[in-house]
Amino acid sequence: MALYQQQTIKIYNSLSGKKEEFEPIHEGYVGMYVCGPTVYSNVHLGNVRTFMSFDVVNRYLKHLGYKVRYVRNITDAGHLENDADEGEDRIAKKARLEAIEPMEVVQRYTVDFHNILNSFNFLPPSIEPTATGHIIEQIEIIKCILDNGLAYEVNGSVYFDVLKYNNKKTYGILSKRNVEDLIHNTRQLDGQSDKKNPQDFALWKKAEPQHIMRWPSPWSDGFPGWHLECTAMSTKYLGEHFDIHGGGMDLKFPHHECEIAQAEACNNESPVNYWMHANMLIMNGKKMAKSTGNFILPNEIFTGDNPHISKAYLPSVARFFMLQAHYRSILDFTDDGLQAAEKGFFRLKDAINDIDDLKTSSASTFDVNAWRQRCFDAMNDDFNTPILIAQLFEAVKIINQIKDGSATVTADDLNILKTTMTEFTFDILGLSNTAKESSSSDKLSGVVEILINLRKEARQNKDFALSDKIRDELIEVGIQLQDGKDGTSFTTN
Ligand SMILES: [Zn+2]
Repeated sequence: MALYQQQTIKIYNSLSGKKEEFEPIHEGYVGMYVCGPTVYSNVHLGNVRTFMSFDVVNRYLKHLGYKVRYVRNITDAGHLENDADEGEDRIAKKARLEAIEPMEVVQRYTVDFHNILNSFNFLPPSIEPTATGHIIEQIEIIKCILDNGLAYEVNGSVYFDVLKYNNKKTYGILSKRNVEDLIHNTRQLDGQSDKKNPQDFALWKKAEPQHIMRWPSPWSDGFPGWHLECTAMSTKYLGEHFDIHGGGMDLKFPHHECEIAQAEACNNESPVNYWMHANMLIMNGKKMAKSTGNFILPNEIFTGDNPHISKAYLPSVARFFMLQAHYRSILDFTDDGLQAAEKGFFRLKDAINDIDDLKTSSASTFDVNAWRQRCFDAMNDDFNTPILIAQLFEAVKIINQIKDGSATVTADDLNILKTTMTEFTFDILGLSNTAKESSSSDKLSGVVEILINLRKEARQNKDFALSDKIRDELIEVGIQLQDGKDGTSFTTN
């Protein structure tokens, strides 16, 4: 029996506003689509948090034995500077500013994106399609929506007719907005726009003569509207109706609302069963923004090269820190939080490493199976990683009690304890074993500090033979001492 047959997952569905029991369309299989990055700049830490939330969802579903097809796209065209279908294409703008090809921008930031996600130990998606690789599929969907009478063409551009759609279906169903309010709140058209109504959105835009990123279509040489690529790629790889669609909270409107409308307008059915949205990441209680200086790039966490943090942190420590908050809560990124997470993470790892040395007894003083189920329960409850982490620390407490003799465990129970700790910490939370190296390098520093102090004492006692012996033998194992006016430091090679 697969694990998923023994566990019941509940997912908070943004569409219903409720936690719902998860039932995939096809038993044993899950189709999940997550909106990926627009690759025109270094990936934002807030986006890393969003993708990490879905990395954990992917890992947990796989752990339960589901066959997961996880599609996460790369937006490499069509994403304009603002949501009103105006402004320059973000990638084309960056290319113009740096006097390089748009595809050089795409390449550079796609590589950066993958590097950062690899550092954080993400599993790759099953398919990572690009917008420019699916122009034909996008054109087909526009044709379909035009045929169904829910879009119109003006001067080579095609727009989605929101009012007409709303007569049949409900526009605003996900973000809980109604069309009347949208009409009141959208600024009036300035006469430059081809749209019939300001709330309509572009499916195809005719390219201006200077616009480099352009493709032929029945309407004009141009480019697809941003919302369309996700409908085209999710339909192509997951079908017209699939299980989970995820993304950041900021994408709920208009992006995901438009995805629903496009899919309904073409296929006449709601495309997604469970909509999941990850909340924001802020820093030191404020919105993260380059313009205010309240900003950190993901790789600066690993180098420590940023004024908002006191030192470098391991990727697993940053990952552990982020997973201490539930994905639907706002996460406040702080140096204090990272320091606490570092201590917690090593305490957890040290306990896992101690398991093999524990003595077993003829009876257990705790119910390991009940605890194991509580770990599953935490993840079954809308992927509640902070509660899971609390359960893992319950086990840390028990491991330490077994060590000092105030608790006992049978060999069988110890086995279950070890497997559960390892699976949830490394396979499901995705924390990395490599952190062990740094833990031992911290221990090495401690040992060398002890030797430095012994050598200092020897010199104070004029025992130069001993002080030289310490120095020379350290050199033999690759550790070099340097005496300076602030004391002695060391380097390793
Ligand atoms: Zn999308």
